[in-house]
Amino acid sequence: LLLVLGACNTESASDSNEDTDQKLRSNPDQIYVGFVLDTLREERWYRDKEAFEGAVRELGAEVKTLAANGNQQVQIQQAQLLINEGVDVLVVVPTDADGASEIVTLAHAAGVKVISYDRLIRGADLDYYLSFDNVKVGELQAQEIVNRVDQGTFAYVGGSETDNNAILFREGAMNVLKPFIDSGAINLVYDNYTENWEPERARDQLASFLASNSVQLDAVVAANDGTAGGVVEALGARAGEVEVSGQDAELAGVRRVAEGTQTMTVYKSIVLIAERAAELAIQVASGEEITTESTVNNGQADIPSILLEPIAVTAENIRETIIKEGHLSESDIYGE
Ligand code: BGC
Repeated sequence: LLLVLGACNTESASDSNEDTDQKLRSNPDQIYVGFVLDTLREERWYRDKEAFEGAVRELGAEVKTLAANGNQQVQIQQAQLLINEGVDVLVVVPTDADGASEIVTLAHAAGVKVISYDRLIRGADLDYYLSFDNVKVGELQAQEIVNRVDQGTFAYVGGSETDNNAILFREGAMNVLKPFIDSGAINLVYDNYTENWEPERARDQLASFLASNSVQLDAVVAANDGTAGGVVEALGARAGEVEVSGQDAELAGVRRVAEGTQTMTVYKSIVLIAERAAELAIQVASGEEITTESTVNNGQADIPSILLEPIAVTAENIRETIIKEGHLSESDIYGE
């Protein structure tokens, strides 16, 4: 089936779905960017989608986002669909760091470059990686906790083990906790990842641990606001007495920080990463070679990388950070 690209309109496009070379986008002269998300269940990824799409359109390109809701196979299929549609570049938040290497293989076979967004794709000839300093995120989380309590009974509630970031967050947290654990000041009685980052799972796992062990926790280093929400529920009546970390400056998380049931969150500017990613995507799609200051090894190669700075947010600096940056408003957080 041969179709002249220029003559393609929406009707003929929908008639020719099997033609994988066919560009289904409305304007073939425009750069077309595919954005593949792991999930839209968490507030942050909805914001990433909005900010990234807005930034790409602002730069005069077309964009389509698909979200796999935590299913690696679905994510690979979605990437293939976008490749079939003729995207010029793929921006991917992998569900599974290793599994997503297949996306890179499929994309490269079609001459499409791949940018890893926020989460690293491992074991693949990835083109670029754009994220935050994720070891630092974990360090900030544990540091804010030990600033308040540096001895006693601790728990670590991690993210999804298939997410490279979850490994880095834990590594950062342990950099800070290790000397205290080694000296015996901190007793780490619980240390678990949370499949798919599910808050309910984080809650249930910790609750059942607490129900069957007679321990009184002093602090929980939780990897993000979603899991922190689960932790606070599991703590029940003790919420507020136990230090709990988080990440993402999600509305619910920041409200807990303001009211005192969560110690801190980590603010990572979504607007910043989304805008940088949009710029990078357009440059890559236009065939430009981009040089970055750093590289990150993903087990296969040194990947040109851009790493942005995370910021620790506590009840004391909510106004100078996330309100000042316009991430959330005073009334969002404190109500009337
Ligand atoms: C992101 C976090 C997010 C988590 C769960 C991580 O890869 O860096 O910001 O909370 O995934 O979606």
